[in-house]
Amino acid sequence: MVASAYTPQDEDKAIWVYLEHDADQLEDVSKELLGKGRQMADELGWKLAGLLIGHQVEPLVEQAFSYRVDQVWMVEHVLLKDFSIEGFTQAAYQALLQAKPSVFLLGATPNARDLAGRLAVRLRTGLNADCTDLRMVAENGVLVSEVSGFGGGVLALIQMAEHRPQMATVRPGVFPLPEPVAGFVGECITVGVNLQPGDIHTQILERQVGEGMDLSRAEVLVAGGRGVEGDFAMLFELARLLKGEVGATRPPVDEGHIERERQVGQTGVVCSPKIAICCGISGAFHFVVGIEKADMVIAINTDPQAPIFDYADYCIVGDVHQVLPALIAELRRSMEVVHA
Ligand code: FAD
Repeated sequence: MVASAYTPQDEDKAIWVYLEHDADQLEDVSKELLGKGRQMADELGWKLAGLLIGHQVEPLVEQAFSYRVDQVWMVEHVLLKDFSIEGFTQAAYQALLQAKPSVFLLGATPNARDLAGRLAVRLRTGLNADCTDLRMVAENGVLVSEVSGFGGGVLALIQMAEHRPQMATVRPGVFPLPEPVAGFVGECITVGVNLQPGDIHTQILERQVGEGMDLSRAEVLVAGGRGVEGDFAMLFELARLLKGEVGATRPPVDEGHIERERQVGQTGVVCSPKIAICCGISGAFHFVVGIEKADMVIAINTDPQAPIFDYADYCIVGDVHQVLPALIAELRRSMEVVHA
């Protein structure tokens, strides 16, 4: 087995989180990982640190401290103003080799996924992608990553005994968003990086920002499956009345009934709503991982044996084309009564 760039013998007992940012704000997934990282670091009596890469990112150090990081390792360079995989890989690689943290966690976002893969290869270590949970073994400081495998048929617990850093990516919404605290001050360590303009082969020509719908933060999720038969208008109306968002299983997305960014599940968004209303959805594992953190699940399905009913708190055996219009009419009526 190939040895990693550094080993458990020379690791620093620290949990590092990649501090992804946009428009002068830390991304929520980084804050979620700081919350989980803080809990795990406290259990072991270890340090929690954030890795911040960019140009003129010093204001973000304060933000990171408010999520109770002991250290922020900051790599500042004019060539790191925009994300480029070459520049950010080089910056993170140099910082990790200098500090040798035991654990390095990143959000499973498009850029950080790319970064994590490249770093794992350079550091000759392993990477557990899209973890659904993380914990540390107190006796030996090994990270246990929960990952669904074999097409979702099993949940695997993966450990890295000899390779460092122990790397994992986690999708937005898997861990709760912690509240910032005032007055927590850690240490900021600046790391130099050797970067030349010729090292960066990508150039940003234009920046386009999407509409900003975030299913992972929705408090009410109205999700539709194949049983909805493409009639998502009634789901949007129910979601509007309940101030929620509409999600979907993979088949209606593949069939073009709804945008891909609304897909919930293993290859979609992981949601943690207060209420998830699942309409015409069978309850395949790949979908259920996207709603299992919901406080309450209501399922509507014509098939009384549908697996979704095993996860649901309220089970409605019926046709969505009859149940949803009745529910919408009842909600409208009750709202009129409240406003009268
Ligand atoms: P079906 O399984 O076809 O279920 C439709 C349900 O609707 C049935 O239970 C039926 O009884 C009910 N029904 C039919 N008519 C009505 C009606 N009129 N009223 C009420 N109920 C009705 N899927 C995802 O959703 N998200 C993912 O991220 C995802 N990732 C995947 C990743 C991999 C690697 C693989 C292999 C698959 C993935 N899938 C994903 C697909 C997943 O395995 C299922 O095939 C999918 O979730 C099924 O969607 P469904 O429940 O809408 O459809």
